[in-house]
Amino acid sequence: MTSLEGRTALVTGGGSGIGRACALRLAAAGAHVVVADMNAESAAAVAAETGGVAVAVDLSDPGFPDAWADAVPDVSADIVVNNAGFQHVAPIEEFPPEIFAKILKVMVEAPFLIARAVLPGMYERGWGRFVNISSVHGLRASPYKSAYVTAKHALEGLSKVIALEGAPHGVTSNCVNPAYVRTPLVENQIAAQARTHGIGPDEVVERIMLAPAAIKRLVEPDEVAELVAYLCGPQGSFITGASIPLDGGWSAH
Ligand code: NAD
Repeated sequence: MTSLEGRTALVTGGGSGIGRACALRLAAAGAHVVVADMNAESAAAVAAETGGVAVAVDLSDPGFPDAWADAVPDVSADIVVNNAGFQHVAPIEEFPPEIFAKILKVMVEAPFLIARAVLPGMYERGWGRFVNISSVHGLRASPYKSAYVTAKHALEGLSKVIALEGAPHGVTSNCVNPAYVRTPLVENQIAAQARTHGIGPDEVVERIMLAPAAIKRLVEPDEVAELVAYLCGPQGSFITGASIPLDGGWSAH
């Protein structure tokens, strides 16, 4: 559990759900964690739990790398977990263009800007790890999720380019592709779908969310964090440019 001693890990969206689980797991492996989240309160709470640092930052603001550098001037990330994200569900003809643009900013442009800021330091030190929290929606589409599916597919591309450019410098980059994980993001979707369809929350999970998966259960945030820690540890050093499904067989279809 101490293989990441001496490494600094930046976890975006680290205040909740999968990001929080990753922050805790990487801290347990010895990393110094920087929790970046637009929710200052939850970022501070997770930073306190991990003994790390909180940065309150909105990743949809393109000036965020400067705000981040001002908040933690000595930060040089060895590990980046690109995790911050959000969902909006609507048919394309009704999808608000400004929400489409914001989803791409937070889930694609911000990871690019972070890579741009931290890669020179990683190259200097000859070591770096990117774990991009993509989704089964980075590999498969679903209706009414045009921005999210587009953003996750784009993140897959960015991850592979980082893998190719970073390889000679000891930097790996991978995607993790979960199906539905039990987090606040999904709990909200369950509640919304239950209202829309006029059915109970359990039925939403069974009949709608788990329909495409072979294994009929939600994934737990800790299971995602475990895979992230594996990719960051010494065992993961030859895995790069990969996308690892954690989707209960969804993408086997
Ligand atoms: P969550 O809502 O629990 O947490 C997301 C965190 O990101 C929140 O703390 C939020 O404040 C932060 N965030 C959102 N927009 C931000 C912004 N502009 N700037 C800074 N921080 C911002 O969600 P989660 O379920 O833990 O999702 C985390 C990631 O995992 C997302 O990228 C999501 O697409 C992905 N994912 C989730 C699931 C799932 O079923 N929950 C499945 C596959 C992939």
